[in-house]
Amino acid sequence: MANYSGPVCRFCRREGAKLYLKGERCYTPKCAIERRAFAPGMHGQARKRKTSDYGLQLRAKQKARRIYGLLEKQFRNYFDAAAKEPGVTGVNLLRHLELRLDNVIYRLGLGTSRKQARQLVSHRHFEVNGKTVNVPSYQLKVGDVLKVKPADGVIDVALEASRVRPVPSWLSFSADDKSGKILARPDRHEMETGIEEQLIVEFYSR
Ligand code: SF4
Repeated sequence: MANYSGPVCRFCRREGAKLYLKGERCYTPKCAIERRAFAPGMHGQARKRKTSDYGLQLRAKQKARRIYGLLEKQFRNYFDAAAKEPGVTGVNLLRHLELRLDNVIYRLGLGTSRKQARQLVSHRHFEVNGKTVNVPSYQLKVGDVLKVKPADGVIDVALEASRVRPVPSWLSFSADDKSGKILARPDRHEMETGIEEQLIVEFYSR
């Protein structure tokens, strides 16, 4: 599946919030939103007009899509799957996104960003339940164990850089053998904050 490979700091500036798309750089004064806290483009500094309901819904959807690094079609597919499941559609949607293999690797600190995690998966650095998986969108389940393949120096660098982020309570991590386990399905408060999932549901329900 294709993915976006252009500049990403402009996404944070557009949403007016740090989306942490560039790994270590996001925690330094080099972060673009620290230096230019206004929307990108010619009219980025123009006085803001009142945003319509549609505009708010669109921004909420774009923000979530960009945090997880997905194209529209992929994101929409997750929404459609979430809408068919019992429970709250917005939470179902976020749960699908959180349980993607690339996201779990990022959450465990084995990648400095979701983008790097995605690349590491594609380059076959990880095993799930003893089998190599190279599909970043692979959906993990409760009980699944993921492990770094032996002698992987690139992961050590990522782990060191990711210490600023705690591992969420629905995951466990063993630094000795660099393995992680899915302990439970994440609840809403354990997932990405700053996403207004109800607005996303409204966006797709228009
Ligand atoms: Fe966003 Fe990170 Fe770029 Fe800062 S450095 S604007 S948080 S992607």
